[in-house]
Amino acid sequence: MSQETIFTKIINREIPADILYEDDLALAFKDINPQAPFHVLVIPKTPIATMNDINEENAHLVGHLSLVAAKLAKEHGFADNGYRAVMNCNNDGGQTVYHIHLHVLAGKEMGWPPY
Ligand code: C5P
Repeated sequence: MSQETIFTKIINREIPADILYEDDLALAFKDINPQAPFHVLVIPKTPIATMNDINEENAHLVGHLSLVAAKLAKEHGFADNGYRAVMNCNNDGGQTVYHIHLHVLAGKEMGWPPY
């Protein structure tokens, strides 16, 4: 099964996205349907379908996503007030794009639990 999703097309610049950060391992871009004043997705350039597919070989990429998320939140002034970083998995988690992504949401006070 191909692991290509719409996010591979964003990585390859085949479809547009508002990209805020890029390095060899990761890309961060504004969510097209923002759920907070600041809503960015941080994705690995190597496709990993779901959290269930994280393993010893690719786990460093997930750590890197957290590093990028915190860096962006700090750069945009959200470190002190706080922010939320969340990764949805499969149907009950609300996952719709099967290329893992860390949602970084900030700019408003959020509730918990998230339903
Ligand atoms: O966690 P989930 O898989 O539901 O998140 C997918 C996210 O990708 C959604 O928040 C959606 O708005 C976003 N998206 C995007 N640009 C696209 C397609 C989806 O920002 N072209």
